[in-house]
Amino acid sequence: MHDEKGVTPQSEDFSRWYIDTIRKADLMDYSPVRGCIVFKPDGYELWERIQAGLDKRFKETGHRNAYFPMLVPESFFQKEKDHVEGFNPELPWVTEAGGEQLEERLALRPTSETIIGHMYSQWIQSYRDLPVLINQWANVFRWEKRTFPFLRTSEFLWQEGHTAHATEEEARRETMQMLEIYRDFVESELAIPVWTGEKTPSERFAGAVQTYSIEAMMKDGKALQAGTSHYLGQNFAKAFDIQFLDRDNQRKYVHTTSWGASTRLIGALIMVHGDDQGLVLPPRLAPVQVIMIPVGPPKKRKDVMGPFDRIFETLKQAGIRVKADLRDESPGWKFNEWEMRGVPLRIELGPRDVENNQCVLARRDTGEKLTVPLDKVLETVQSLLDTEIQKNLFRMAVDFRDRHSHLDLETLDDLQQHIAASSERGEPAGWMLAGWCGSDACEAKVKEETKFTSRNIPFHPPEEKKRCLVCGDSARHTVWFARAY
Ligand code: AMP
Repeated sequence: MHDEKGVTPQSEDFSRWYIDTIRKADLMDYSPVRGCIVFKPDGYELWERIQAGLDKRFKETGHRNAYFPMLVPESFFQKEKDHVEGFNPELPWVTEAGGEQLEERLALRPTSETIIGHMYSQWIQSYRDLPVLINQWANVFRWEKRTFPFLRTSEFLWQEGHTAHATEEEARRETMQMLEIYRDFVESELAIPVWTGEKTPSERFAGAVQTYSIEAMMKDGKALQAGTSHYLGQNFAKAFDIQFLDRDNQRKYVHTTSWGASTRLIGALIMVHGDDQGLVLPPRLAPVQVIMIPVGPPKKRKDVMGPFDRIFETLKQAGIRVKADLRDESPGWKFNEWEMRGVPLRIELGPRDVENNQCVLARRDTGEKLTVPLDKVLETVQSLLDTEIQKNLFRMAVDFRDRHSHLDLETLDDLQQHIAASSERGEPAGWMLAGWCGSDACEAKVKEETKFTSRNIPFHPPEEKKRCLVCGDSARHTVWFARAY
C-alpha cells in the first residue's frame, strides 16, 4: 500500500520505503547492467560531500592521492593465495580488446592491493622511501549475488588507502588511525553512531592479518559495515616482493595496510535518519542546509521579496548553503518537496511576518516551528545547524541503536526466542551482544540458525560477556551479532 505521496511507510516494509525514498528524491536510477546503478546529481552530490570530508582528514594525516589502472593482470591475483580465493568468484574479466583475444585476461579491479603492491615493489628500496602513504578515489567491481542500491552494488565508488611501513608497530598504528578517522567522520558529519572493533577471522578481508570495522545500526535494526581498515602484515609484501634496505643494512619486507569506505555510506545516511516523509540529512553533510520559501498571497509577494533577499544574502555571506524556491507552485507543495529531500531547515516569510519583523523557521528533524525576529535569523540558523539539529540527529540515532541493542540475551536459544517474539510484534530484532568462545563452528551455527552474523568484537563493549552463546564455554570475546546488509 502507498500513501498519497507514493512512499511505502517504514513500518510496513522498510526495503520498499528505502527504494521509494531514493527514487522519489531522485538520487539514483537503475542501469541496464545488472547490479550497477547511476548516481544522479542529487545522489552524487552526497558522495562529493562525503569525499570532501574524508579527503580533508586523509590529507591532514599525511596521505596523498594517486591513481592506478582499473585493469589488473590475472597473474597478479594468483600471487596472494587468500586474496585470489576471496575475490575470484566476484571478478569480471576483460578477455578481448582491439578485436583480439588477450594473452592474459585482465580483471576489473575489486580492490587494488595487487597492482599497488607491484608498483610499491619498484618504488621502495630503502628505509628512506618509507612510509608510503597513498590513497586512491576510484570505482571498483565486485560481481555480488544480491545487490541493493548504494549498499551493495556490482560497481561502486570508494576510496582505498594503501600504505607501506618499515615496522609492524607503525603499520598497526596507521590501521588504527584510519579506523578512528572513519569513526570520527561518520559520527561527527553523518551523525551516525558506530561501534569500532575487530572482525572475526571468518569476516576478515581476503589476505589481511586483521580487519577492523565500524558498524552502524539501520532503522530496521540491521547492521551495516560502514568502513574497514586492514592490517595486512607482510602478506602482500612477500607476494609482491616489496623489500627495503633498513638502517641496520638488512633487507626486510615492508608491513602494509589498506582501508576503504564506499558509496555505501549514502545508503547508511538514508537508512539511519530517513522517515516516512523522506530523507533527513544532517546539516554538516546536507548539500542544501536551508530552503527559503515565500508564503502568503502572490499579489503581496513584492512586499516580501526585499527582506527575503536580504535574509538570503546574509545567510549566503555567512557560508550557509541556502537556496530560495521561487517556483510557481503552492507553498505546501514546496514544503513537502524539500522535506522529502531532507533539507534540515526551512525559512518561511510572508507579508504578515514582514509586518512583524519576523520569519518562521521549520526544523526537518523534529517538525518544530519557531518564530524568530529578523535580526536574529543568522545566529538562530547557525546554532540550529551547527549544534542543535546535528546533535539531535546523532542523539536520536544513539537512542534508537541502544533501544535495539540487546544485552540481556545470553544464549542462542534466547536469541531465537527473541527473534520470533520481535517478528510477532512487528519490531526490529536489533543486535545481540554475546560471548563467543572463538570457534568457527559456534559462529557458523549462529548464522545457520538465525541469519545473525558476527559484526565485530567492539573495542569498548557496553559490558563483557562471560559464556559463549552456543557452547556455553568461557567466552574469549564479546561480539555484536546482527543481521547485516
Ligand atoms: P573491503 O575492501 O572489502 O574491506 O571493503 C571496504 C568497504 O567498501 C566496506 O567496508 C564497505 O563499506 C564497502 N563495500 C564493500 N562491498 C561493497 C559493495 N558491493 N557495494 C558498496 N560498498 C561496498
